[in-house]
Amino acid sequence: MEKHSTSPFSLLSIICATFGHDYVVSRKVTDHINEYTCSHCGKEVADNMQGSVEILTLKIRNANNALASFYAKKTQKIPA
Ligand SMILES: [Zn+2]
Repeated sequence: MEKHSTSPFSLLSIICATFGHDYVVSRKVTDHINEYTCSHCGKEVADNMQGSVEILTLKIRNANNALASFYAKKTQKIPA
């Protein structure tokens, strides 16, 4: 018996592996740090302080959350 799993993700992962990921900005953390999601396979990465891109782990996401709220406070100077 052949089990046939046609997950769209596996096919798209092959496309990504062949042509590279198609990252789109999923969240702007600061002017210099963005989070990206691959529009094909859903892989998430983020810019880091060192200027390179790394896998968006829960730890990094939490760090970015803190950074984003800090950044929002810093830049929010317009009185409501
Ligand atoms: Zn991808």
